[in-house]
Amino acid sequence: MPSNKSVSDAPIFQFTNCRILRSHQLQREDLWVREGKILNPEKLFFDEKGSADIQLNCKDSIIAPGFIDVQINGGFGVDFSLATDDVQSGISLVSQKILSHGVTSFCPTLVTSPPSVYHKVLPQISVRNGGPHGAGILGAHLEGPFISKEKKGAHPEHYLSTFDSGAFQDLLATYRYLDCVRIITLAPEMKRSSEVIQELTRRGICVSLGHSVANLSQAEEAVRHGATFITHLFNAMLPFHHRDPGIVGLLTSDQIPARRRVFYGMISDGIHTNPAALRIAHRAHPKGLVLVTDAIAGMGLAPGRHTLGQQVVEVDGLNTYIAGTKTLSGSVATMDSCVRHFLEATGCTVETALEAASLHPAQLLGIEHRKGTLNYDNDADFLLLDNSLHVRATYIAGERVWSQDIFTI
Ligand SMILES: [Zn+2]
Repeated sequence: MPSNKSVSDAPIFQFTNCRILRSHQLQREDLWVREGKILNPEKLFFDEKGSADIQLNCKDSIIAPGFIDVQINGGFGVDFSLATDDVQSGISLVSQKILSHGVTSFCPTLVTSPPSVYHKVLPQISVRNGGPHGAGILGAHLEGPFISKEKKGAHPEHYLSTFDSGAFQDLLATYRYLDCVRIITLAPEMKRSSEVIQELTRRGICVSLGHSVANLSQAEEAVRHGATFITHLFNAMLPFHHRDPGIVGLLTSDQIPARRRVFYGMISDGIHTNPAALRIAHRAHPKGLVLVTDAIAGMGLAPGRHTLGQQVVEVDGLNTYIAGTKTLSGSVATMDSCVRHFLEATGCTVETALEAASLHPAQLLGIEHRKGTLNYDNDADFLLLDNSLHVRATYIAGERVWSQDIFTI
């Protein structure tokens, strides 16, 4: 039966022989796509009297929404925090290479840097759709320099800054360009941070709490002012203490405003967080868990010396240290490996593991009506995976942008 073209001339694709992740469950259904969007087959059959133009046998794959990485410092030799004249080509290389790891959109992340770096790099970053050229860019994530000296982690101390003199004006003077900025990680115990959090929230920029010695009440106050995210939970913050659980306490706080959810990033690479800690976080607050790679330039390369902004980093297996120290500095894990490690370490369901890398980051950024689910009319950014969650093929806007050599459909 030829498809009905009364609504659109665009071809209709039907992905068959698959289980698709929808409404938090893998369901044995076909996935329908037209014009880069997920199509509702009932409307197609009954309203348009249409049918598929092209059928694709997925060979019993799982189909899940594309992964969204909201914290990635670089990879494949590229460091987003280096001030070059051609930031675009570095971002393009990473956005191309992460397709094989299932990432269909991401937030390029800059670590604490001198103002001159932000002034040079930020105007060169722009939000853009994904496609065969690479994963989409959702905006930059700026981690620092408004963070705690005591919890600076891999951030260079002499570039750390405060809001002491002008609060939001200090932030503007440091970054200068905020148009492309989507997330800012800051330490909420800093003087005048409330003003800054409120202004960033008013501008639609997500505030994340991290690299901080905040106690729980300071963290709760930051959330009341608009903060919605915690940067790499457990890492670079006060350890959990039963009389003052610090930022970690936000996971079970009863002081979160109604209808608000606090999300938290987890680097699930088997190095940054012990599996037991991963399980504690997941069981306490499963709907807030967002998998991030926090990947650095060495991701995808052989072990050795790489950079992270102004610092030199030594990579040995999955361990990454600031050269000559035991300070952990980002990861070299890929998003698909983080999803698999999370599944294994927590014993959660496949659906839960996949949603932690897709639905939850989309909800954090408020884009779940476009990305992060396979709901009808959403962008057709999705992955075909085998049962052990290895990526077989990656699609953006309904177009195949990467596939395993041996996997053809
Ligand atoms: Zn960090």
